[in-house]
Amino acid sequence: MGRRYEVGVIAGDGIGPEVAEAAIPLIEKAAVAAGAEIAWTRYPWGCDYYHEHGRMMPADALDRLAPLDAIFFGAVGRPDVPDHVSVWELILPIRQAFSQYVNLRPMRLLPGVSTPLAGRGAADLDMVCVRENGEGEYSGLGARYDQGTPEESAEQIGRFTRRGIERVVRYAFSLAASRPRRLLASATKSNALQHSMVLWDEVVREVAADFPEVEWRPYHVDALAARMVTHPDTLDVIVASNLFGDILTDLGAAITGSLGLAPGANLNPDRTHPSMFEPIHGSAPDIAGRGVANPIGAIQAGALMLRELGLPSAHDALQNAVEQVLTEGTVRTPDLGGVAGTSEMAEAVAEAM
Ligand code: ATP
Ligand code: MG
Repeated sequence: MGRRYEVGVIAGDGIGPEVAEAAIPLIEKAAVAAGAEIAWTRYPWGCDYYHEHGRMMPADALDRLAPLDAIFFGAVGRPDVPDHVSVWELILPIRQAFSQYVNLRPMRLLPGVSTPLAGRGAADLDMVCVRENGEGEYSGLGARYDQGTPEESAEQIGRFTRRGIERVVRYAFSLAASRPRRLLASATKSNALQHSMVLWDEVVREVAADFPEVEWRPYHVDALAARMVTHPDTLDVIVASNLFGDILTDLGAAITGSLGLAPGANLNPDRTHPSMFEPIHGSAPDIAGRGVANPIGAIQAGALMLRELGLPSAHDALQNAVEQVLTEGTVRTPDLGGVAGTSEMAEAVAEAM
């Protein structure tokens, strides 16, 4: 046996455990075939835990996760727990404590999957969003004032730091430089957000000077969203702030077939703490418990994890198996127009491997 990796699993709520548990045996199989071994530790944190203990995860959660090689995450959130609790008490603390400042979200149209953009250069749809994952609009700063009075108001402060922008933009430029087309689009809105986005633009321009081989340009985020629909073939790497990246990647998932297919990685590129891998979708309460959730987003997130752990052949084996199953098209979950369940879809991928 080669290297042994310690991976923590936070399967979470709703379809989180359904897709995570479907993906885990496949990730394991790919790792073992590459001569590695994965030891999985499951943490029962999320909304059930919240109802029992009044918090989404225990006080020492971050200490327990810190020594791991990676975290595999399903989804958290349920209608009986306020959304801001599930996000602010579990996902964001992990992303921030572990300096997972890059949220990497590939948006690629896989073979055999149909897109609502048919005929718009969509066949070549192969983009990746590098979303800032630690500050900006999701810094949590702000307050509500005069609650319940006619004078009520609220402030939500987007706090951007030069260091925070620089490190994610640098990651995005290096990624663009490593891809065949070497294109980078920066999502901005400096016409309306005259402090934060002007700083963003300045830093992007400075970092760009170190990557003369990358062709880049800024787009106002509204125009970029439109371009993703009208000319997606002209886009390659997109670098965006926390909020803009959140929105653009749901759009990206929609135009590449289904939210259920899209993977994401919360990366600590400096490797000082574990990175966290997840499907980009949420807990999908509307379909939870029915065994029909598409596990491909979670499986592809597992493939990204294998690649980041240093097992590129395991990544390729898993990714090729996914693409083979989608190309054949006989086993499809309802979001892709089929009738297969979560486990059938995962079994088809296992067989293809
Ligand atoms: P969050 O706030 O956590 O991002 P959300 O409210 O945006 O969650 P999701 O849980 O991502 O919503 O679900 C959005 C829609 O996409 C729902 O109709 C859901 O059923 C569908 N969906 C999400 N994930 C999948 C999946 N894996 N398979 C099939 N459908 C999915
Ligand atoms: Mg969402």
